[in-house]
Amino acid sequence: MAKIHNLGFPRIGSKRELKFALEAYWNGDNSKTALQAVAQSVRAENWGMQQHCDFVPVGDFSFYDQVLDTSFLLGNIPERVAISDDHELDQYFRLARGRSANDTDAQCVFAGEMTKWFDTNYHYIVPELNADSTFHLNPEQLIAQIKEARAQGVNAKPVVIGPVTYLWLAKTKDNSDKLTLLDRLLPIYAELLRLLDDNHVEWVQVEEPILVTELDDDWQLAIVKAYQALQNARVNILLTTYFGQLEENLPLAGQLPVAGLHIEALQQGEDANRLLDNLLNFLSDDQVLSLGIIDGRNIWKTDLIACLEKLKPYAESLQDRLWLAPSCSLLHVPVDLDNETQIDTEVKAWLAFAKQKLEELQILSRALNDGPGSVQAELTENLKAVSNRRQSKRVHNPQVIKATKDISADMTKRSNNYQNRAIYQKKHLNLPSFPTTTIGSFPQTTDIRQARRQFKLGELDNGRYEEKMKEQIRVSIEQQESLGLDVLVHGEAERNDMVEYFGEQLKGYTFSQFGWVQSYGSRCVKPPIIFGDISRSQAMTVKWIDFAQSLTEKPVKGMLTGPVTLLNWSFVRDDISRKECCLQLALAIREEVLDLEVAGVKIIQIDEPALREGLPLRRSQWTEYLNWAVESFRLSASGVKDETQIHTHMCYSEFNDIIDSIAQMDADVITIETSRSDMELLDVFDNFSYPNEIEPGVYDIHSPNIPSEKQITALMDKAAQRIPFDRLWINPDCGLKTRQWKEVLPALKNMVSAAQSLREYHSATEQTPA
Ligand code: GLN
Ligand code: ZN
Repeated sequence: MAKIHNLGFPRIGSKRELKFALEAYWNGDNSKTALQAVAQSVRAENWGMQQHCDFVPVGDFSFYDQVLDTSFLLGNIPERVAISDDHELDQYFRLARGRSANDTDAQCVFAGEMTKWFDTNYHYIVPELNADSTFHLNPEQLIAQIKEARAQGVNAKPVVIGPVTYLWLAKTKDNSDKLTLLDRLLPIYAELLRLLDDNHVEWVQVEEPILVTELDDDWQLAIVKAYQALQNARVNILLTTYFGQLEENLPLAGQLPVAGLHIEALQQGEDANRLLDNLLNFLSDDQVLSLGIIDGRNIWKTDLIACLEKLKPYAESLQDRLWLAPSCSLLHVPVDLDNETQIDTEVKAWLAFAKQKLEELQILSRALNDGPGSVQAELTENLKAVSNRRQSKRVHNPQVIKATKDISADMTKRSNNYQNRAIYQKKHLNLPSFPTTTIGSFPQTTDIRQARRQFKLGELDNGRYEEKMKEQIRVSIEQQESLGLDVLVHGEAERNDMVEYFGEQLKGYTFSQFGWVQSYGSRCVKPPIIFGDISRSQAMTVKWIDFAQSLTEKPVKGMLTGPVTLLNWSFVRDDISRKECCLQLALAIREEVLDLEVAGVKIIQIDEPALREGLPLRRSQWTEYLNWAVESFRLSASGVKDETQIHTHMCYSEFNDIIDSIAQMDADVITIETSRSDMELLDVFDNFSYPNEIEPGVYDIHSPNIPSEKQITALMDKAAQRIPFDRLWINPDCGLKTRQWKEVLPALKNMVSAAQSLREYHSATEQTPA
């Protein structure tokens, strides 16, 4: 009898109840007790949706982040957050976000660093360690939740991040070798396992997702050592991997002395089965194999009949040692498709959110255990949906498929190289040295948000809405004129979100109402869904840019989201490759670029903030990704004439390891985040001479602080040491959407003055441009 279990459930609540309760608590509008009550009801609702599982995850709930929870569980709590005898929850929020409810300014601390959880869009709080770090077990919360779950009648399977992955995720503040801390950490895990056994826990899910990455000898050894040290635990360990295949780590994982192993098993076909068979050779006769057979990171219905075909032989050979689960925690998908009333019925039938995925799991186990006849109706319905999606005209557009096939090499190349283009662009644009500009958006005031909301609800007709937006554009152009900026933007008032805005106008996209996914803490995103071939039926941005340009003599930049970012920030199709989907998006953006050029727009910025985060976990797969990502960007940008200047923007600072690919994008001008890192990023240019123009951000827009002229000049001086000054621009780090005008105006004023003094200085010293 195959068993079913789940690895983790979204904890923000199906209507984001936890988000609102957290924010109310932080603002002082809600008590701790009220917050805890909401948390408890979210957990109860979640367990209710999972109660048909043989094992239900407990400990996957979190007030902010599961890695931060692990730091508290292991007693790794930086001293700075502990203010004498306050509640642990407040220490927790201090570490998560710098302050808790009711903290005075004096009690504020540095928040823990936040970074991306593997290759997902979730962010975790990086554990802080140093050579002297010690640990102690802090299990009360976990034990309390196990009891809470049991009281609700579910079979609790506690979930913890494994010791080696915990260290891997951590940073040592003193640069000491974090692996040396393993010896101190393992006794804490052993103690935890003893305690779970005392509490009659049968299975514990210990997660080591680093097993799907390339591990050097030391880390492989650490894995072996850790699980040898824990092998005498009486509670059963389900060693859990996700986000990819074990590949070369398969023999390592297969030989660990644990009671069971969970692996991702999404692929169909002979190769996939061969790998599984190979793994079985390593497992002993009493080990459980849990197959992550349902995609925990995407929102498509599973092809249940294909799954059953794949599973049958394993069910026969493994019997009750076969467990079935989603591939990873369902944290990365929305909660419940049943809440959606606006997705059209044809497309909705193809989707499954967290709750629906667990229903699929149940159908699979019943089909295996009681025969397909026991779930005939469900299987028939699934087959209908899956084949409808395969054949639907809504999905397949022969013109798009042909256009993608017809992409030729010269479509991804500008007709001239940068050096030659630059000559035409200089003439065409006639800009001063150190040109000043901004990244696109200006503050999104309550006025703007209200107008957009009213328009969506139909309370504002199209004409009045356009008037309102034009009014905003006029304000932003006037402000930029009076500041004396050189290259202006329209301000993006009409855009709610840089992906959604384009998605709403492209065919092949759909949107959910409640499809929220946690990004970090209380922050959620609602990724649009790409369900079909992408095409553009009309210009998406031209009228706004055109209007803005009509108000000024200065050049106004056309502002677009690039194909790779559209892809990486959406739920994407699983029936074609990411590459193919990206090329379709690129063709649509290319058309928009050309329309802007025809409308007389001289500078077009194609933002790619998500390019880096799409990098695969394994380095060996980077080149393949970067090749098609760069190709897609170039496809979108390369149709223009020499004199049209292409900009791109990326808001991250760590790109030393992919600088070659960034250069290959061949944008005429690239903006990068640098101000917070004090231009550290530019170190990469010591060994690599970036061929085109650069805008190193000089205004940290994630902070309310206003940079002085002197600070900006100092940053630019640093930049000018590495990059010939005639290829430098001056601008903020990122869009100004989240700031207020009262911060933006003085900051930009200082930026313009800094540019002036730099121009004077550099013309006086008569440096010859390189
Ligand atoms: N053009 C966008 C803006 O200014 C860029 C945002 C981003 O990089 N995330 O808001
Ligand atoms: Zn940015």
